[in-house]
Amino acid sequence: MANQLSQHLLKARVASGELDSWISKEGGFQTFSVNSAHNLVRKDFEANSSPIFCKLWRCKAVPSAVLIAWRLMENKLATRVNLSRRGVLVDSLMCSLCGKEEETCTHLFFDCSFARQVWCLCYRWLGVLVVPHFETKNNFDQFRMSPASETVNSVWNTIWVEVVSEIWNHRNNIISKEE
Ligand SMILES: [Zn+2]
Repeated sequence: MANQLSQHLLKARVASGELDSWISKEGGFQTFSVNSAHNLVRKDFEANSSPIFCKLWRCKAVPSAVLIAWRLMENKLATRVNLSRRGVLVDSLMCSLCGKEEETCTHLFFDCSFARQVWCLCYRWLGVLVVPHFETKNNFDQFRMSPASETVNSVWNTIWVEVVSEIWNHRNNIISKEE
């Protein structure tokens, strides 16, 4: 990056009598804007991300929901099992919603009876019949309309992210009421 900058500076034409100004290479040399900087950073970020994460970053869900979805995909959410793996003392490893299985990400979001009901209602609402995948990224990838455009599927991605976020928020509300 520093090398590229010094190369650009060496090629720069310095004209006397002209005021300096910020310009952006994004979309042809234009006046610098926060939006053009955001697009530049996003493109660079997406170039180094997997297609699944690119779809996640592009969806229109609220940022807090996208963050929860990303942490779920990376198995970084503070479920009881994940907390225990990190050495945090927890009262129980069992699921906060059903109490019948250990609270892993897979169980909480896809296998728990509560989550199954939520996804079942979503699929019914969207008018599709599928056997949901239990692996997070595959489940996300599966939640789409096959013949539809990427724009339509971006809406589906957004719905998936919001549903995941609401399951996590519901679980946290249950825990906070118990305390
Ligand atoms: Zn459960």
